[in-house]
Amino acid sequence: MKNLVEFSRRYGSDPELVLAGGGNTSMKENGILYVKGSGCSLSTIEEENFVAMNLEKLLAILNKEYPTDDKEREAQFLADVGAAKLPGEEKKRPSVEALLHGLFRQRYVLHLHPALVNGLTCGKDGKRIAEELFPKAIWVDACRPGYTLAKLLSDRIGPETDTVLLQNHGVFYASETPEGLEKLLEGMMTALKNRLPGEIPEKLEEVELSKPFTPDHIVYCGVGPELPNTVNAHLLYRDAQKINWYAKSFSGPLPLEKELVDFILNWEAESYRKKQS
Ligand SMILES: [Zn+2]
Repeated sequence: MKNLVEFSRRYGSDPELVLAGGGNTSMKENGILYVKGSGCSLSTIEEENFVAMNLEKLLAILNKEYPTDDKEREAQFLADVGAAKLPGEEKKRPSVEALLHGLFRQRYVLHLHPALVNGLTCGKDGKRIAEELFPKAIWVDACRPGYTLAKLLSDRIGPETDTVLLQNHGVFYASETPEGLEKLLEGMMTALKNRLPGEIPEKLEEVELSKPFTPDHIVYCGVGPELPNTVNAHLLYRDAQKINWYAKSFSGPLPLEKELVDFILNWEAESYRKKQS
């Protein structure tokens, strides 16, 4: 547990890797998944901010049939995720990606939204370049987060899978050791930096937040003219500028599809995350 808290804070404090309440981490031990609680910040996380879950019960969700209606499905999924918490954890709410954390076989999982990696995941040619640079990694086309994402990956993640790239979102790494996570992250950052024309400039061009790149930009910045004037909004705007610049090395930026933006805007789980920040 000490390891988990230590690397969570370390990665969570690096604004190049994750901003605001984004990103999450987990550990598996004796059939229990300890996953970051929704809405808390990685940079200041304490042991008690992790939610202890029965891994078998959590993974059983993948065998259930869910309604096709968005609202009904998300409500039932949320209730089932809640029911997989261990006794004593009732008041906590696990990360929206808890089920996906459970799918990896390795002990530790690290999920980040680095601007540089998102230059690739938000690049028009991101998928092709990812396959070329990281042939063993799994690439997932932009899709709804939470249940839909985990279900989509349930038969793709195998015992050897240690890297999953999510289009317009971020990256997951899995390893038996914290050092293994570090290696995966470092390796990816180096490979991506080698594709850039040079250092990222201090002054970056303006971006349109009506066309957000990732869920973070929607959750912490809002969409459209009514942008909240907060520190987070500023940081996330800067993040969007960087992604925009990085993505030029991957055939140009590709914002989120409108259908996904609308889903995230109306998703109860994300409004919960936003309230916690
Ligand atoms: Zn994420």
